[in-house]
Amino acid sequence: MDTMKLAALLLPEITDTPAQIEAQYPSRNLGNKQYVTRFAPSPTGFIHIGGLFAALVCERFAHRSGGIFYLRIEDTDKKREVEGGIAEIVNALAQFGILFDEGATQDGQEVGAYGRYKQSERVNIYQTYAKQLIEKGLAYPCFCTEEQLNDIRQKQEALKLTPGYYGEWAAHRTLALAEIEQFLNDGKPFVLRLKAPENTDKKFEYNDSIRGKVEIVENTQDIVLLKSDGVPTYHFAHAIDDHLMRTTHVIRGDEWLSSLPIHLQLFAFLGFTPPQYAHISPIMKMDGSSKRKLSKRKDPEAAVQYYHEQGYPKQAVIEYLLTLANSNYEDWRRDNKQTAHTDFPFSLQKMSVSGALFDLAKLTDISKNLIAEMDADTVYQNTLQWAEQYDQKLYDVLVKHEAYTKQILAIGRGVQKPRKDISKWADVAHYLSYFYDELFDGQYEFPTHLEKQSMQKMLEQYSVMYDELDDNTGWFDKVKALSESIGFVDMKTYKKDPTAYPGHVGDVSTVIRVAVTGRQNTPDLHTIMQTLRQQKVLERLQLAVSALK
Ligand code: GLU
Repeated sequence: MDTMKLAALLLPEITDTPAQIEAQYPSRNLGNKQYVTRFAPSPTGFIHIGGLFAALVCERFAHRSGGIFYLRIEDTDKKREVEGGIAEIVNALAQFGILFDEGATQDGQEVGAYGRYKQSERVNIYQTYAKQLIEKGLAYPCFCTEEQLNDIRQKQEALKLTPGYYGEWAAHRTLALAEIEQFLNDGKPFVLRLKAPENTDKKFEYNDSIRGKVEIVENTQDIVLLKSDGVPTYHFAHAIDDHLMRTTHVIRGDEWLSSLPIHLQLFAFLGFTPPQYAHISPIMKMDGSSKRKLSKRKDPEAAVQYYHEQGYPKQAVIEYLLTLANSNYEDWRRDNKQTAHTDFPFSLQKMSVSGALFDLAKLTDISKNLIAEMDADTVYQNTLQWAEQYDQKLYDVLVKHEAYTKQILAIGRGVQKPRKDISKWADVAHYLSYFYDELFDGQYEFPTHLEKQSMQKMLEQYSVMYDELDDNTGWFDKVKALSESIGFVDMKTYKKDPTAYPGHVGDVSTVIRVAVTGRQNTPDLHTIMQTLRQQKVLERLQLAVSALK
């Protein structure tokens, strides 16, 4: 077979040579311990938390080494692409502080000397290498129809053989040039297939950076390199792009592990040095007593957008994902409270092989602690930013009452043991609500063991006594005085014989607390009342009295 002629026949428009392309992608100017990684999503408009996790792992791995982390858009499957998908990816990752050194950008431009970074704009490059493979007799056209392929599969199934297009089953592997010309003249579409080795069961070991030793059985399938529209498959584009863009480490989901034999073979056929591979296990979730993958369909928390909508601070999400990535992160964090997460000695080898277990409660905990350490100004600014996008009512209130809100947010903050009421910005509206008439919902958690009438009386009496000028002690003295006047005793006395008294002083302060805020659990009540001011407190007491009627 005249393979030069075949190549010219199949890809007549390709005039470049691989050498010309290679010249445009020189080795990177990096030391041998400075790594190059990439995040390579399809622009489908959905980012799974596993995608953010993988991006973080790639980013950390490259940047820890002083290397390069870039974004490549894998848009060869136009059916899956959505409008604005690239901007969405870049934005979503930027929201979590994950930034690229090179690649596609939000505005459709790109930065970096190793582009284009969108596969759909690289078709000429793939075809140039494809042409070379044809010339070398390592690739051939296949005109088989869907029906023919089905037919092959059925026969293989009946014979209990490995399904696929390979060896003697590869019907068009041995077409003569004249037959190929005939097909082309008839306008028959074709895919380009790799001519894989036949009848080999060569095995070797591969050392995956996360999974350790894995066994590779040499690929014998004549896999598709170019689809009938001339666009490459993932396998082919991956080999060429990661070679040209000088990726040192391909860190990706373990759904690709089974394709590793194909990829290593492609690198060899193309004469490229393969990158080091690291396959990440999917993030898992407990479902009853069994573990399953976090699912886009079943779990809202599978979408990165969820964390943004709920208003988890980006640092909390990153901290949490790092605990999933390396189990020693938590200990490190405990010992290095003030250090940036970027100083953590992240390691691929320490990643879980069985799949890290996702736990929203733990993220919530991390987030709570983080927010508790923020000052009132920071909480205000973050909430404002979140509310602008997700809660117009809260946004308006925050803008209108800026100084007042900061005063409220300062309650219980900046102290030895700060309060932990807020775990995400979406909690703030509820947390603050009783401070503003616009948000106060008039729902009361009055204790159920007290008579409505007695609570009403208590509040009426208290209204006459309350004075915002009282300091903490003066304030409490009045609560005690009120208690005594209605036969409620101190806690100790009450506990000795609960049936002997109608209640204790704690009950009285709870009733006041609920009357003012609606809730039983709030920060320091005296401070809250001082923040609300005399007039508002009296109004609230009045409102509660009416509600109890
Ligand atoms: N586009 C592939 C995916 O989204 C990328 C896999 C890789 O990182 O190589 O699964």
